[in-house]
Amino acid sequence: MKNLLLIAFALCSNLVLGQGLMYTIDVTKNTDTFFVSVDIPKNLGKSEGTFQFAATAPGTYQTQNIGRYVSNFKAFNKKGKELKVEYIAPNHYTISKPHKATKITYEVAETFDTQVSSYPVYMMCGSSIEEDHTLINTHTVMGYFRGHQSDPLQIKLIGGENWITGSALKQIDGIFTAESFDHAVDSPILSGNLTTAQTKVADTPIQIYTYSEQGKFNSEALLSNMKDMLEASQKFLVKLPVDQYTFLYYFLPNPTGTTGAWEHSYSSEYVLGEQEPTEQYMKQVTDIASHEFFHIVTPLNIHSEIIESFNFVEPTPSEHLWLYEGVTEWASNILLYRGGVVPFEDYVKNSLATKIIVNENYFDKSWSLKEIAARSFNEDGAKQYGNIYYKGSLVAGYLDIRLLELSNGTRGLREVMLELVKKYGKGNPFTEKTFFQDLVDMTYPEIGDFIHDYIQNAEPLPHQEYLEKIGLNYKREGNKIDIRKMVNPTDQQKMLLEVWSKNLPL
Ligand SMILES: [Zn+2]
Repeated sequence: MKNLLLIAFALCSNLVLGQGLMYTIDVTKNTDTFFVSVDIPKNLGKSEGTFQFAATAPGTYQTQNIGRYVSNFKAFNKKGKELKVEYIAPNHYTISKPHKATKITYEVAETFDTQVSSYPVYMMCGSSIEEDHTLINTHTVMGYFRGHQSDPLQIKLIGGENWITGSALKQIDGIFTAESFDHAVDSPILSGNLTTAQTKVADTPIQIYTYSEQGKFNSEALLSNMKDMLEASQKFLVKLPVDQYTFLYYFLPNPTGTTGAWEHSYSSEYVLGEQEPTEQYMKQVTDIASHEFFHIVTPLNIHSEIIESFNFVEPTPSEHLWLYEGVTEWASNILLYRGGVVPFEDYVKNSLATKIIVNENYFDKSWSLKEIAARSFNEDGAKQYGNIYYKGSLVAGYLDIRLLELSNGTRGLREVMLELVKKYGKGNPFTEKTFFQDLVDMTYPEIGDFIHDYIQNAEPLPHQEYLEKIGLNYKREGNKIDIRKMVNPTDQQKMLLEVWSKNLPL
């Protein structure tokens, strides 16, 4: 994810898929509320009457308590008679005779236009209905019966006539199919008066769907701005670990909450301010897309068991947020530099100097990356969370330099990340508790000290020391930072700068 200041095995046959829950989401009744009905084709057990809404969702690192938006929850038996239900705050309902239930219905307020007193849901993780579109991040509209999180399900969207719909979910006869609740949550749906565009990166089809309230943005223009980024990503990753990818863009002139973007396995969702599409703004939009697209590596392919078996009931932090968001932010920036999309001067200004200043002036730099991860679901932690994109990215960058130095210029963080994709990958999580040691074992003992100082603890960041290793001068006066290439670097510095500036051959 990025703000501006799961995978289940497909063991199911079609037959089983046909027996999963069928969600019908109607957005045509009014412009603030989703009317949802869920058909239950196969009887639940007597102890399976807990219908759970999400307390949080993967990649948001934010408490959301979707139960707050739900009302009018009812359950019915096959004769249409209402069954007794009880709301257990904050996020679930229990049905008194679940084995008799054949249908539930409920309403969910959209997050965009609903005021809450605490924990406002980020807009890119939220939901919206207006006359000409709907945005459905499915965890804000759907729940699941506890014990059935990994069951397949189907979704039918009742929207406006002639609406165009974008999602990474497969659609058969207008019905979306998902392998599990996790898969549905991993697949937002944008529908309405959209523009579309498509392209291919290597052999991977890329789709773009855009809703723009004032029509200032369209999919073709966004695509032409993204082309170089997509190619640079492909060069950095050598082989994209996805067989298709969908970008869903939503622009609105007066955002009422935090805007940004949220990553998924085969798509990403952007809610951004509808400013004038100047060159500078389009560049910013592309930078965010670069970040989200890189998430196909981590956390989507490299993550711990905490992310793999996601807990929608109780927010559970993983201490490897530094990897999921910090490394992603670093990679999404440096791949543009290494791919020739961003010049050296812009890279050091925007991805080093600015991040150093933001880390120090906008956040409490005494928080370690580990602490930012551990406390992101609390209100005080939510205020420091954004620093993962600044401090986290700087630390990843210095880890890269340290790896290049220790390997004598043969293996930096990119190469280690690609090794991790091979070692782990989808459906094969690393171990939360041992990962730091695993990383040291596959690299160098000195990396243990680096992790201790800059990830587990909050030692002052060694800007000058590390930039000098690669032959860069670091000069600072107050908030003015100047980073430039040394005039007379040593042979070692010259060599490290050269390998730092390009994708090493694999
Ligand atoms: Zn992110």
